[in-house]
Amino acid sequence: MKTHTSRTGTLVVVGIGPGAADLITPRARLAIVQAEVIAGYRTYLDLITDLLRPEQEILASSMMQEVDRCRGALALAENGRNVALICGGDPGIYAMAGLVYELVKESNSTCHIDIIPGIAALNACAAVLGAPLMHDFAAISLSDLMTPWPLIEKRLQAAAAADFVTVLYNPKSGRRIQQIVRAQEIMLEHRAPATPVGIVSGAGRAHESVRLTNLEQMLQEEIGMQTTVIIGNSSTFVWQDKMVTPRGYANKYDLGAEKVSG
Ligand code: SAH
Repeated sequence: MKTHTSRTGTLVVVGIGPGAADLITPRARLAIVQAEVIAGYRTYLDLITDLLRPEQEILASSMMQEVDRCRGALALAENGRNVALICGGDPGIYAMAGLVYELVKESNSTCHIDIIPGIAALNACAAVLGAPLMHDFAAISLSDLMTPWPLIEKRLQAAAAADFVTVLYNPKSGRRIQQIVRAQEIMLEHRAPATPVGIVSGAGRAHESVRLTNLEQMLQEEIGMQTTVIIGNSSTFVWQDKMVTPRGYANKYDLGAEKVSG
């Protein structure tokens, strides 16, 4: 019989979705319930308090401590503990899965890593808006804390010119207020002012707000840290308060042919 002698534990990087309890996957729930230690940003831990057990050790951290948070979680897993590192949305989208692998690579750790996917903000926001991501899209974070702004502008230019539906993550914070203004300017160089824009804040949370506007007027809406902005492509339309990007079925299957042919 094979006995398990290694004391190395597991670090599970868990995506808890946008915030609603019923948008946490069963696999993520199980990982949280089974973990001995739960680490994460305080705001995300507050979203899962119902799942936590008194005997679990909680390592709450504040926003700018990502590297320490990951290192701490990894060190505990290396000492044989089963640790869940909690991320909002999906752990591999502007979250901690990549950082964990970078740290493991750097330290030659033998720790076992598991990534559990979550419903990303772009999924949750698209669903409440209608179906804006039905064709090719680009996600761009406007945060220049770690990415140089000229590179972000280059990507905005490329996405705008190639007519990608464009999802803007981290559009604005208390201190970063100019980036969204510049993003709008770049988009307007390539797209009509009437292009539909969906703005969703706090998707799946108690204070969820969903707004439909257009490229010209989008800055009149309140945009903050918990907001995702989705800018349509040149075919995106609004129908009965829903934002829809056609996939092209109308051309292929003659949807509404009676109107067109008449
Ligand atoms: N890992 C997350 C993204 C984290 S980056 C994911 O997969 O979605 C943080 C940014 O995500 C925020 O600035 C905002 O743009 C977006 N975001 C996160 N949660 C959101 C929510 N509930 N509603 C709308 N946008 C959200």
